[in-house]
Amino acid sequence: MNNFNSVLNELIQEKIYENLPGKKTRRGSRINVRCWICGDSRLKQSKRRGWFYTNNDPISYHCFNKGCTASGINLLAKLVSTSSKEASKLVFKKIKQYNDNDTSYEDLTPSGVVSPIQEEEEVVHEELEIPNYWVDLNEDAKQILTNRKILEAPFKPRNWKLYYSTRHKRIAIPWVSQGKIDTYQYRAMYKNQEPKYTFKYESAKSIFETGKFDDMLDYYFYLEGTFDAIFIQNGLAIGGIFPNAEQQTELSNRYSLMDGVWIPDNPWVDESAKEEIFKRAKTNPKDLIFYWDKDWSSKDINEHIIKSKNINLFDYDFLESRITTVFKFATALKFGRAIQ
Ligand SMILES: [Zn+2]
Repeated sequence: MNNFNSVLNELIQEKIYENLPGKKTRRGSRINVRCWICGDSRLKQSKRRGWFYTNNDPISYHCFNKGCTASGINLLAKLVSTSSKEASKLVFKKIKQYNDNDTSYEDLTPSGVVSPIQEEEEVVHEELEIPNYWVDLNEDAKQILTNRKILEAPFKPRNWKLYYSTRHKRIAIPWVSQGKIDTYQYRAMYKNQEPKYTFKYESAKSIFETGKFDDMLDYYFYLEGTFDAIFIQNGLAIGGIFPNAEQQTELSNRYSLMDGVWIPDNPWVDESAKEEIFKRAKTNPKDLIFYWDKDWSSKDINEHIIKSKNINLFDYDFLESRITTVFKFATALKFGRAIQ
């Protein structure tokens, strides 16, 4: 199931971050480092003349100091200071791990053929500083994204690129604005990883705006997780269940002519979402909320998309037709009846 080169490429990227000292920066599909083979410029310690080309299959390397080159298994061998025979063993070991691990996916592997991952769009133009333990998506991460239809989501941002965090064993989701990473979310990949999302809250600006956002419309829809937001027309992810005070200020500054609508997880299924709505009914009864149908059994937006087999379900008209107040929804929930 796992082809040799894709696992080899994965290992090369992991080792770049784990084994090479100093700064690494990514420009598009290239990774720039100080050449560890020749030692790079002796005069300038800050010079970095080594480049990895991650678009090549297998990944290749070239340095513009002494012209050091390597690719594929030889490159991996150089990164872990071993022979190419030993390096091959590392690849086979990892392939075996993947094959043994098939049942540990948070999302069960679908039976039959998995559709291939779409080619990622061209990445952000500016040089993007990413933590040095972020690498390209590994096979497990790609599988989850495929199962969850994330790569087909109609409102994913343009030039959006996800990573795998070798440190967290999670999918790293950058929140980018104007070519810079404002903050990021980590999304669980395996069973027993709690919580599902972790969020590094940076500033009031920490709001993830989905693609094709239209601020001439009347409403925006906010929710916690990025992987839900990208299926929502005019969706925003805020990293928490409810915006904090700073985010609320930022929201009303940025979208001053619009009204915000809260999209909780399905409270008919999820007890904690229900509690949260009851809580908000006391403090923010008039706030707008998207109401879930009593008959829907999906826990959240992404699950509902998968079950309904319609990735375009949450378009603006549909969303707008399901807006009520927190107080009304809480009352309906309390008495177990549908909203009229
Ligand atoms: Zn070199």
